[in-house]
Amino acid sequence: MKPFTYERASSPVEAARIVANRPGARFLAGGTNLLDLMKIEVETPTHLVDVQDLGLDRIEETPEGGLRIGALVSNTDLAADERIRRDYAVLARAIVAGASGQLRNKASTAGNLLQRTRCPYFYDTNMACNKRSPGAGCAAIGGVTRQLGVIGVSDKCIATFPGDMPIAMRLLDAVVETVDGEGRRRSIPIAEFHRTWGDTPHVETALHPGELVTAVTLPAPLGGKHFYEKVRDRASYAFALVSVAAVIQPDGSGRVAFGGVASKPWRVEEAEALIPLGAAAVVARAFEGATPTDDNAFKLPLAMRALAFVLSQAKS
Ligand SMILES: Cc1cc2nc3c(=O)[nH]c(=O)nc-3n(C[C@H](O)[C@H](O)[C@H](O)COP(=O)(O)OP(=O)(O)OC[C@H]3O[C@@H](n4cnc5c(N)ncnc54)[C@H](O)[C@@H]3O)c2cc1C
Ligand code: SF4
Repeated sequence: MKPFTYERASSPVEAARIVANRPGARFLAGGTNLLDLMKIEVETPTHLVDVQDLGLDRIEETPEGGLRIGALVSNTDLAADERIRRDYAVLARAIVAGASGQLRNKASTAGNLLQRTRCPYFYDTNMACNKRSPGAGCAAIGGVTRQLGVIGVSDKCIATFPGDMPIAMRLLDAVVETVDGEGRRRSIPIAEFHRTWGDTPHVETALHPGELVTAVTLPAPLGGKHFYEKVRDRASYAFALVSVAAVIQPDGSGRVAFGGVASKPWRVEEAEALIPLGAAAVVARAFEGATPTDDNAFKLPLAMRALAFVLSQAKS
């Protein structure tokens, strides 16, 4: 691991100011992703700004009837919150489908949104990777692509966003709140937070350099039946090959988002109108323009079957 310095910020604005003004500085939350990447020198920050003690660990009700989740609420606390379990069950289910109990105790809400891809070539510093070194090329293209993306990818990067919790947040139309080093605040709809790769796969989110995530706001509850179906190689402690988050209403209408398939949580609102026609129609529309490889083309029928299972459960 490369040497680095460490400090604790005293306020969110101070944390953002330090990171914005100091090249090589990064925020440190639970450290479950960043420290792993530092150990293998995929990430080499020179300075870490610890944001764990800034009072961003509360879940509060909003005047609009939703919930405001502090950026440092742990995954464990969020999944266990009574209001989340009752009114946003899809979110609680997505969280507990991820990682392990120990990891979820440390992992934060913001850190989970900002976790990096699990592309195996990204993890191997001997391999070309446009995400690690812009312009270097992409060793995954033409390589082993079973885990990689089928949509929202580009000829520069075919990695997936690996998380579970953000798939449910996308379904729920969450909004990411931020502050910068000048104290300016932004509210970013989660649909615009994660990017498709295009020519700049190293730019993964809508955050400006040094911008700190302070909270994620959920709108008022949707009602309906909630599902998070995750298909993976092992029963636990594995990332999704395909996941489906869904809320289905008594009249058969609903929302659906997919994980494990794209550069970002994948939701195509126009496809949701087709839910009453069945999973095949929804998947055909949601994955229009997909560019699977021979290795990962199985993700399309897998997404269809996972959604068909969810829709059959919704009827029972
Ligand atoms: C073995 C293993 C298995 C896993 N399995 C799963 C899984 O199945 N599903 C899943 O979803 N996840 C899984 N994870 C990933 C885990 O969920 C993430 O590592 C975790 O959510 C990251 O949160 P953290 O607080 O530890 O982030 P950190 O590691 O501290 O930070 C991650 C990134 O976010 C940035 N950051 C942190 N906080 C802020 C903030 N407030 N504002 C701006 N930037 C910030 C950091 O600078 C860093 O770039 C797994 C991890 C491991 C190690
Ligand atoms: S797919 Fe993306 S993350 Fe993986 S090697 Fe290519 S550029 Fe890097």
